[in-house]
Amino acid sequence: MIVSSLFSLFLIFTSCKSSDKNMVLDQKMEQDSVIVLKDGKKIPKVYKSDAEWKAELSPEQYNVMREAGTERAFTGKYYNNHEEGRYACSACGIPLFDSKTKFDSGTGWPSFYAPEDPNVVREDKDNKLGYTRTEVLCARCGGHLGHVFNDGPKPTGLRYCINSVCLEFIPDVN
Ligand SMILES: [Zn+2]
Repeated sequence: MIVSSLFSLFLIFTSCKSSDKNMVLDQKMEQDSVIVLKDGKKIPKVYKSDAEWKAELSPEQYNVMREAGTERAFTGKYYNNHEEGRYACSACGIPLFDSKTKFDSGTGWPSFYAPEDPNVVREDKDNKLGYTRTEVLCARCGGHLGHVFNDGPKPTGLRYCINSVCLEFIPDVN
């Protein structure tokens, strides 16, 4: 009798544990499959193989976005763009930056002080140059976009230094 009730207790205990585990797994699966914008809207993430990206992107886009390369300063199409509009990820189309946050950094790369939504980009540590920089990636497709530095203007003090080739400009329609 004692043994069997102990056994059922054990069953209850393990089943609770496994449902906790399932909840954690569900949350993890959601994190892996969607990004949640600040207004609660969910956008599905984009996963493609290297071969698929290679077929879809230009060689320069592939080098920067999938191999974390950098376009030469002052060569991109947007560092000197002063039109009003939004800048979307050129690989997956999610809007990343608004022209209202763009500023002239003098670096030769498009620079912004904030992303359009904090959840459309993610950050990673990059030690490639022998010191730590903060890499900026598209949260939807995982494409490398550039780096973020702490020497930007107000209100954030941040400078998102982004390769033009990762962006697709969408002008405002008035
Ligand atoms: Zn993207």
